[in-house]
Amino acid sequence: MLHYNYLIIGGGIAGVTAAETIRAHDSRGSIAIVSDEPHMLYSRVLLPSYIKKRISREKVFLRSIGDFEAKNIVVMSGERVVKIDSVRKEVFLASGRTVFFEKFCIASGGSVEPWSVAGAEKKGIFRLQTIDDADAILAALPEMREAIVVGGGFIALEFLDFFFIHQISTTLLCRNKNFFGTALDGDGIELIHANFEKHKINFMFGDEAKAILGNTVVEGIATKQDVKVSGDVIGLGIGLLRHMEFLEGSGIEKGEYGIKTNEELETNVSGIFAAGDVAEFYDTIVGKHHVHGNWTNAFLQGEIAGLNMVGQKKAFRKVPSYSLVNLGLHITFLGETHPSEAEETISRTDPVLHKYERFFIKEDRLIGAILINMFQDKPLIAKLVEERVSIAPFKEKLSKIDFDLHSVVV
Ligand SMILES: Cc1cc2nc3c(=O)[nH]c(=O)nc-3n(C[C@H](O)[C@H](O)[C@H](O)COP(=O)(O)OP(=O)(O)OC[C@H]3O[C@@H](n4cnc5c(N)ncnc54)[C@H](O)[C@@H]3O)c2cc1C
Repeated sequence: MLHYNYLIIGGGIAGVTAAETIRAHDSRGSIAIVSDEPHMLYSRVLLPSYIKKRISREKVFLRSIGDFEAKNIVVMSGERVVKIDSVRKEVFLASGRTVFFEKFCIASGGSVEPWSVAGAEKKGIFRLQTIDDADAILAALPEMREAIVVGGGFIALEFLDFFFIHQISTTLLCRNKNFFGTALDGDGIELIHANFEKHKINFMFGDEAKAILGNTVVEGIATKQDVKVSGDVIGLGIGLLRHMEFLEGSGIEKGEYGIKTNEELETNVSGIFAAGDVAEFYDTIVGKHHVHGNWTNAFLQGEIAGLNMVGQKKAFRKVPSYSLVNLGLHITFLGETHPSEAEETISRTDPVLHKYERFFIKEDRLIGAILINMFQDKPLIAKLVEERVSIAPFKEKLSKIDFDLHSVVV
């Protein structure tokens, strides 16, 4: 019978950080990680650099089995959790094994949403979520001639950059009217579109795939507006579906997108925590439950969950951000970037230097911002958001591109 003091689902950054944090504070308790991937921890953030051939495969990996052995952490890789009995404190694995636990953390992340388009099983459709996906993309690269990227967010952007670097002509197909949905306004949208044109990317907005063309291999996409787009490879960047299927019947509460927790990342069941992409946690900065999907958040939540599993009482408090450099633009999303959550937004732009910033404001406080080629403002804006500083004294100036935010004393 397998019995661990601490059991963690998921060998991603949140799960591994939780396990290592526990070990740093409890040298004797038994710890196990159940992970359905066959690999040890690797960086998803580095996968784009790997497929762009900027780093070797080996550099993507962050831990070896020896690292876990040295810390006396058991890793059950290739094992999938299918059910949880939170009363008897048992976890059932697809292999038929049962594992007992005392404290438990769910750090199961997510996968690319299923794509329910006719012909979605054809050869030539790629996702970019795992190292296996990245290997498959690189293996197929020599055969790629013409690409279609489906989506309108960060992963779609990674695919666009990848195809551009490998000189593969590309069409972007995006269901929304604009890239990043409603996050950007006029000048920001123009800047992104002009950048796509500069990189010779064809784009189609407000339309979506109806069927995949070709017999067994992709030859293109027929759209709902009856346009035929040709391409022998499709890169899918259509959002994340959180892994929660094993919660059925467990009594662990789900939120709208993830597993619901309080600010200490504990679920409604005492002793069971959730961390990382899968956690729909209570955010004390904005006063509501929500999910984040970024590396720093997953790491810091793993740390907080680990501390709370060993009996501390720490709240998670961090302004989320996601940054990437792509097609020559340095883009950062920070805090709340849904216009519907803001009372007003203010933006400023420098079309010559390709700079753009949009501020999301509620009750005269910043709740978030989008920065294009304005990375120097990120730490300051994060502080203004986290400390809920009133921006009333300088709000008028935010629309001026030459106004230096650093002249504001925090
Ligand atoms: C290509 C790519 C680029 C990215 N770039 C950035 C970036 O530039 N900046 C940034 O901040 N973020 C980036 N991210 C997002 C970031 O990588 C994620 O937010 C982070 O990795 C989430 O970590 P996690 O531990 O919560 O989940 P995951 O890394 O998803 O780990 C969860 C693990 O649990 C396993 N699992 C799931 N269900 C079960 C089960 N039932 N049984 C056993 N195991 C299970 C999964 O297979 C997975 O291995 C990127 C993501 C991708 C895919």
